[in-house]
Amino acid sequence: MLTIGVCECVDKTMSESLQYSLENLFLTVDFQRILNIVGFLALLAVVCLGLLLAEKSKQINPLKHSLNKLKKSFDQLDEQARLIVKTDLELNKTQEELDKKISALFTLQKISRLLSTTLDEKEIFRRVHQPIVSELGFERCFIIMRDQQKKLSLKISHGYQEAELNKILSFFEHDPFLEKVTKEGALLSSVDASDPNKKRIANTLGVAYFILSPIITQDGIEGALFVGNSPTSSPLTEGEEEMISILATQFGQSLENARLFEQVYSSHHELETKIKERTKELADALEEVKRISKMKSDFVSAVSHELRTPLTSIKGYASILIDEKIGNIPDFVKERLEKINKHSDGLVRLINDLLDIARIESGRIEMKFEAENIKDIVENVADLLSPQIKQKQIELILDIPDSLPKVLIDHSQIERVFINLVGNALKFTPEKGSVAVRGKEANGYIQIDVQDTGIGIPEDAKDKIFSEFYRVDNLINQSLKGSGLGLTLVKYIVEAHQGKIWVESQINKGSIFSFTLPKG
Ligand code: ADP
Repeated sequence: MLTIGVCECVDKTMSESLQYSLENLFLTVDFQRILNIVGFLALLAVVCLGLLLAEKSKQINPLKHSLNKLKKSFDQLDEQARLIVKTDLELNKTQEELDKKISALFTLQKISRLLSTTLDEKEIFRRVHQPIVSELGFERCFIIMRDQQKKLSLKISHGYQEAELNKILSFFEHDPFLEKVTKEGALLSSVDASDPNKKRIANTLGVAYFILSPIITQDGIEGALFVGNSPTSSPLTEGEEEMISILATQFGQSLENARLFEQVYSSHHELETKIKERTKELADALEEVKRISKMKSDFVSAVSHELRTPLTSIKGYASILIDEKIGNIPDFVKERLEKINKHSDGLVRLINDLLDIARIESGRIEMKFEAENIKDIVENVADLLSPQIKQKQIELILDIPDSLPKVLIDHSQIERVFINLVGNALKFTPEKGSVAVRGKEANGYIQIDVQDTGIGIPEDAKDKIFSEFYRVDNLINQSLKGSGLGLTLVKYIVEAHQGKIWVESQINKGSIFSFTLPKG
């Protein structure tokens, strides 16, 4: 505004001066003056021009400044664009590497799944071979393994001719640098190619880039997995090195699992065969035992029958003589005859027991099972044995609750069981001792306990006393006769009732014979 004002003023001044000069020119025609005026006018014009220029340059300077700034920004933008392009390239590369890694991980996962679903050693080699080539894309690969005789052999290979493979085997056998892998378990690769030996290995194995990873199992370093590529492909990376190392580890574990399975399977098979053999042996032995047992039963039955007839005659004649039916006999003869009678009774009992055992054993005895009250049987037996009880002043405790359910039994056989057990209790308990018969319900059965305060049974004899003719060597047995058949018969009878019998005993404190019977 100021400039425009000055210019307007200058213009105005100039036109006024010009008008004045012309007026004077026409009026005075003084040349000198005209010159002066012209000079003045020129000066005035120069001043005006200067002012004008100054004004313009004032306007140009900020423009110049802005221009510089723009240039600078443009340079910066250019720099940034270059940086973006560079970052983009790097990003692309990283993305590529990531993609490669992800696809390698997928392949690893796939191989891992493939390996974990087989326990066959040959199949493991086959399953690892194909993905290494087709999915991981290595141009050359092989797996070299050492067998139990320490001999190396190539299990799988790809990209090699037969002759090359033979060379590889001999190379592995003889190159000391490879011991790093095969003996020390280290991984060798061209990723860090600082060692010149690596170059030599790459050359010998016909590749430019390679990874050689040991295969380790519980038994140690068993072999190595090799992968390699030619110079036309890009160098192998640390990621690939890591992946091959994982693959080799996984491979080693799968081999180990397969072997463990093989071991378990073969020992299982062996065990099965042994069990079958033993079972057959046992079955044969059992058959033999059954055959011998039947022979024994048949023999015992036959002999017992043969013995019973003459014994009955002996007993009969002895009774006739004792009763003096065929004339008087002196007392000392009578005494002897009574002994004959007594021993004959013992023999008859023994023969009857033997016959019954043989019959039960061979299933020839016919049991008549009926629902009975145990209390009644026990009271009858107590009556029967009352002379011994009184004679030895034994306290007899009968504890059979009225509420005890009936039992399904053969009356006469179970009576024999009580006669034997209570009889033994009285026999092996010193005078003034006590004998108790108790009954209770237990686990769906009726349990009977016959307890005494007698001499007890040694630990090692507890099982034997149920065997035929077994008697513990003690003072009572030395003075009193017995057959050693009573408990055998008892056991047979209880078992024929689907029951069980067992004994608890302490020397000089007493014994408890317990047996079970089914509820009626
Ligand atoms: P026996 O009574 O005719 O000898 P058993 O078969 O009845 O034959 O008994 C076998 C052996 O078991 C007996 O000789 C005895 O040594 C032992 N025995 C049985 N019952 C008792 C008991 N209540 N106390 C101690 N020992 C016993």
